[in-house]
Amino acid sequence: MSQKKAKSSKKTSEHRVTLIPGDGIGPEVVAAAQAVLAAAEAPICWETRLAGAAVFKKGVASGVLPETVESIRETGVALKGPLETPVGFGEKSANVTLRKYFETYGNLRPVRELPGIRTPYSGRGIDFVVVRENVEDLYAGIEHMQTPGTAQALKLISHRGSEKIIRLAFELARAEGRKTVHCATKANILKLTEGLFKRVFEEVAPDYPEIRAEHMIVDNCAHQMVMRPEQFDVIVMTNMNGDILSDLASALIGGLGFAPSANIGDTAAIFEAVHGSAPQIAGKDVANPTALISSAVLMLRHLGEMARADAVENALLATLEDGKALTTDIAGHAGVGTKAFTKEIIKNLGRAPKSYPRRDYQRLRLPRVDGARGATAHRVIGADVIVECAESPAALGPRAEAAVRGLPLRLAQISSRGAKVYPNETGVEPEPTDCLRLRFKAVRAGDAVADATILELLTRVAGVAPWVHVEKLSEFDGKPAFTKDQGEE
Ligand code: NAP
Repeated sequence: MSQKKAKSSKKTSEHRVTLIPGDGIGPEVVAAAQAVLAAAEAPICWETRLAGAAVFKKGVASGVLPETVESIRETGVALKGPLETPVGFGEKSANVTLRKYFETYGNLRPVRELPGIRTPYSGRGIDFVVVRENVEDLYAGIEHMQTPGTAQALKLISHRGSEKIIRLAFELARAEGRKTVHCATKANILKLTEGLFKRVFEEVAPDYPEIRAEHMIVDNCAHQMVMRPEQFDVIVMTNMNGDILSDLASALIGGLGFAPSANIGDTAAIFEAVHGSAPQIAGKDVANPTALISSAVLMLRHLGEMARADAVENALLATLEDGKALTTDIAGHAGVGTKAFTKEIIKNLGRAPKSYPRRDYQRLRLPRVDGARGATAHRVIGADVIVECAESPAALGPRAEAAVRGLPLRLAQISSRGAKVYPNETGVEPEPTDCLRLRFKAVRAGDAVADATILELLTRVAGVAPWVHVEKLSEFDGKPAFTKDQGEE
């Protein structure tokens, strides 16, 4: 049937959903989800579109066809099989392409004990959701070799980006009737980036008075997740922390093969299993479709199809609980194929697991966050200049001091990898490095430093050592907008 005809034949009560079969085991697990949803009479009009290996083969470096993007733009919802990431040069990850196109800033990863799936945690009632910020942080992937021997990655955290994901976490807690939202950060060390995330969490929490808001240092969160995972309800984290801890969390309930996910953006939501394309088992009718069917359940709830979502989830859980027809990754030699497992789920539609706590789900309300918040007073009080340098800080320091004589700036200190090494009051010789940071401050403390002064500073520093990077030292509303080095007064 032509695309136009398919669109016009859509019943008005149907939801249009873009379907991306994906690579490897993708088509098999996607077909399983489609079959179960059809049997549950979920009112969905699928628009099948391509992304991944087949698209790379056509020479499209983004891995996603324009008509796939167009379809998601129109439907606003996609169910996606895993996409292979090519190992060659030139191609991008199709997953990253989709994430960037649709700014799916919120990655939701439910972690719930499954009946019939034995793990060391069975019986403890694990049931929480990891909410991971998905577009900022170190994963913006902005990296530079500062010098031949020193690499740098930028960790970017915005107030707006933090507010969006934190509000999403609280909205999710509301929609699922959960009592607590934990925010796990490394704010004790990364005081400005992770610190901003923590501060926004504290700003937003009072808007949700019925929900307990708790901050936790992320390393303690990792420890608690293994020791006492049943204490968590919702945990919100910045991108990299969330990436690592969400995989750890999946292991608690049986592994990546069981983990569903939702990628939420303002204009589109993409639902997918956490696992990849598992090429070794592709086409053999052995893949376990549980994660993808569970992702389809999340999608039905996103569409407001609460009863159908419950019906599909209950049939899946009853099938796992019965243990009569499970895939071989769970049941070993006694296992059945993907298709037989799917048939069993369909047979179980209308049933519910015997011993599984029910949860009342409401439709998730997506937060709207307006404008960026900025400081009112902004003053530059100095500059950090990063230089490539083969000599010791003790030799470089006096030369840099001499170079800036006559400017309204003084060399306050030199640091190496965040620790002050000049003047050196420790008596310990610093590790040799080819990258040093020279911190210049106004001669008269608190004086504003003009751009012209910083440009002259760079010219003078260039006569001492090649500079590679400059960072203004600012105060916002009278507060320093930069961190002190180890050993700095
Ligand atoms: P993977 O595809 O998740 O597979 C790792 C292993 O996990 C498989 O070999 C298989 O183990 C098992 N497994 C995963 N899903 C399963 C399922 N549904 N049923 C049964 N067993 C399952 O990870 P990978 O091998 O690292 O990645 C393969 C490709 O997928 C790569 O190109 C990667 O970039 C891509 N990937 C895509 C996504 C995505 O699209 N979101 C996510 C992750 C990875 P056994 O071999 O022991 O049976």
